[in-house]
Amino acid sequence: MRPAWSILPDEWKDALSEKGLRPFRAAQILQSLYRDYIEKWDDATTLPKELRQQMQEEFPITKTELSDVAESADGVKKLLISFADGASVETVLIPATGRFTQCISTQVGCAMGCEFCASGASGLDRSLTADEIVSQYMFGRKFGQITNIVVMGMGEPFANYDETIRALKLINAGKGPNLGARHITISTCGVVPGFERLSQEGIQFELSVSLHAPNNELRSQIMPVNRRWPIEELLETCAAYTQKTKRAITFEYTLVKGFNDSLQCARELARRVKSVPMAKVNLIPLSPVSHRPDFKTPSQETMLAFLDVLMKNGVQTMLRRSRGSDASAACGQLRRRLIEG
Ligand code: SAH
Repeated sequence: MRPAWSILPDEWKDALSEKGLRPFRAAQILQSLYRDYIEKWDDATTLPKELRQQMQEEFPITKTELSDVAESADGVKKLLISFADGASVETVLIPATGRFTQCISTQVGCAMGCEFCASGASGLDRSLTADEIVSQYMFGRKFGQITNIVVMGMGEPFANYDETIRALKLINAGKGPNLGARHITISTCGVVPGFERLSQEGIQFELSVSLHAPNNELRSQIMPVNRRWPIEELLETCAAYTQKTKRAITFEYTLVKGFNDSLQCARELARRVKSVPMAKVNLIPLSPVSHRPDFKTPSQETMLAFLDVLMKNGVQTMLRRSRGSDASAACGQLRRRLIEG
């Protein structure tokens, strides 16, 4: 048994043959899955009834349930999606002019333990399978045409590399949903082995790296992953990735009041990221999380001064707006349930 949403379009003929089914059905199957977006094989009316039954047995369509929806005043929607075993994850829909971005999760919980992030506050339950990752997109698209995907929900994509990349390849596939690779952004906290693997895929996904501090002393305090792969090794890996793929990396830097928001931090950050060709920086105001009330968002003035230092040092930088926080849908606020507990 292989879930239908885990099979790449080019793999269908072989998958059918292996089960003694006729490979010429692949084209019809792909149309049912990715033109008609069926949710159960019974609805694949172009297939003979008997085949529909066999498809259900051999290649089931992943069953998910929408357990809850929360909507923030700025139009951001957060969906809680549950899987057959009762596990659930959140996915966020972010409308903007000319864009409809979906933020998807790769794991139930997270093992990385970043101090400022709610997703990891109670550890990792399990990783999602490729079809479960795809199923979030399948839910999201019912709310409007998704133009961009960011893999910035719960979990660390490079700690669930195979299933995540399979899901993204499927969503990207021409005979699948056909979402452009450049519209898909993977975000990692710096799991170094993932970079080399991604550079070998030959697909132009965008890559973001969560940096959040300009040196090991600060970074290790808030991101345990830094003790395994310190900042020098991470940045060297980023430089090698950029040289090999010719793709720019964006560094995410969440500003935490009194911790990493000084002008000295800004200068040090500028110097560091300039070791990576074409590097860009995204500054994110901290979204408050209930388990760390001591972490606060800096004032707008402080954030603009920080931005200014980076720009004067020639680093392409953006200061993000925080969205969705009144629905606990902002960066770092995603959990396994809508109601904390
Ligand atoms: N594990 C991946 C993807 C998930 S996090 C990663 O670490 O990149 C997506 C982004 O939200 C990361 O940059 C993360 O550091 C950031 N983030 C986490 N908690 C946050 C918070 N409380 N406020 C603002 N951004 C946060």
